[in-house]
Amino acid sequence: MMKAEPEFIKDIHLSFNDPLILLKDVEYLIVHHTEEIGWDIIKTHMFHQDHCGWSGIGYNFFIEENGKVLKGRGYHVGAHAFSYNDKSLGICLAGNFDLHTPTKEQLKSLTKLCIFLLIRYHLPTTQILGHRELKGVTKSCPGKNFNMDQFRETVKIQTGNKG
Ligand SMILES: [Zn+2]
Repeated sequence: MMKAEPEFIKDIHLSFNDPLILLKDVEYLIVHHTEEIGWDIIKTHMFHQDHCGWSGIGYNFFIEENGKVLKGRGYHVGAHAFSYNDKSLGICLAGNFDLHTPTKEQLKSLTKLCIFLLIRYHLPTTQILGHRELKGVTKSCPGKNFNMDQFRETVKIQTGNKG
């Protein structure tokens, strides 16, 4: 049984075109940026549906510029990282971090969300990866200005150095 969802994760009940499949296994948390500036969860959802022809937004969670944490596919198989979709949760932050940096609110929310998910799935901080750190990925996602090592270190410190 899944534990109750924490209050900081909001579900706006997006509608998907096809039934989603529950994730059986979560080994990684994968961080992304939208790359497009000014895209919120709705715009991203519509783009993935209408332009990519997917069931709906490919990310499991979405963090708006103001730090709001929203459920995309939640705990269902996503469409965000080739060959990792059935064993990871994709978390997307609104923005293009090649050009600017995440907001303070976004980083705070991402840290909180990652800590919650690491505990839920009994994972060490080393299982948090930036999209670009996956094998075969050539893009910079989540952006040149997003320092993954520094982020993992922040999470590690806040979880009490447990891994
Ligand atoms: Zn990405």
